[in-house]
Amino acid sequence: MRPLIVLCSILITFTSRLAYCGVSSERLERFEYSQVAMGVRARIVVYAASQKSAELACTRAFARIAQLEDVLSDYRPHSELIRLCAKAGGPAVKVSRDLLKVLLKAQQVARVSDGAFDITVGPLVKLWREARSTRRMPDESQLCSARRLVGWRNIEIHPTNSTIRLKKPGMLLDLGGIAKGYACDEALKTLKLYGVRRALVEMGGDIALGDPPPGKGGWLIEIPCAPVEKRRQELANCGVSTSGDAEQFVEIDGRRYSHIVDPRTGVGVTHRAEVTVIASDCTTSDSLATAASVLGPGKAAEWIRRHYPRARIYVRVAAGEEASSLSPSK
Ligand code: ADP
Ligand code: MG
Repeated sequence: MRPLIVLCSILITFTSRLAYCGVSSERLERFEYSQVAMGVRARIVVYAASQKSAELACTRAFARIAQLEDVLSDYRPHSELIRLCAKAGGPAVKVSRDLLKVLLKAQQVARVSDGAFDITVGPLVKLWREARSTRRMPDESQLCSARRLVGWRNIEIHPTNSTIRLKKPGMLLDLGGIAKGYACDEALKTLKLYGVRRALVEMGGDIALGDPPPGKGGWLIEIPCAPVEKRRQELANCGVSTSGDAEQFVEIDGRRYSHIVDPRTGVGVTHRAEVTVIASDCTTSDSLATAASVLGPGKAAEWIRRHYPRARIYVRVAAGEEASSLSPSK
């Protein structure tokens, strides 16, 4: 994840500070702001007519991200998500439009990935978080009980009346693989509402891109996993997400287990690969990058091509891993 952010920051810093917008001949200036949100530094870069208009739009965009953290976070004890999980095993619960939208999207990706992407992994993620701090394998019996609570089909969604029912008591939803992407998309929408369309929102390994900087074909983004000739791409109006075991993992008995868990085995993913997905929006790129990390380098590219033909995927396999599993990229 980090290479994408760092290199991207460097490249963005190199873009000109002052620019002219061809169409309206209005002079647009570059502004950049950042704030900690959802456990990462959220960064917004905009081209706006004045500092005042940039600040107003970015303040509202950060407020939107903070509002979404209250809905989607599994760390906040009173988030809407945690309140929903507290009712697991009980009757259906009415939820906000945001939670409904994220759950619908998550379930769609779960369906087409045959459960590789599965937001019911919460109990397993908890065990692997513990394993990262103790550097010991999760207890087999704990893994077994956690696995019993996992399964995307245990979420029942009624879109028309905005209700969700979690079928099994003890279920714990984890939106870590999709929430940042959705927050980036929503922040970008907020900026547009305030008249700022040439904008970029970045959180961790997820970037939502709006219209390009003035006079440019796109935002110059460094794709860490792409072959050298495709590493720097000018992109606009899309989402870019990188996922993998580069930062969060635990090494036990010479094996490296990622913070991304295979819901079918209950075990942290062990293929040493980093995946970048470029899709129409960041909610999609975020969830697909996580799903592709579970599917592994051998299957991910083919899976994306089949189900999301407009998305692009780049996979980088760690040195020492099977070279043949390096997937082709479009
Ligand atoms: P990051 O959040 O580190 O940028 P990802 O977008 O790939 O990386 O999301 C990883 C997070 O997704 C994990 O920390 C966990 O919260 C959640 N997660 C883990 N395994 C899965 C899975 N199989 N399906 C959906 N979400 C998962
Ligand atoms: Mg993700």
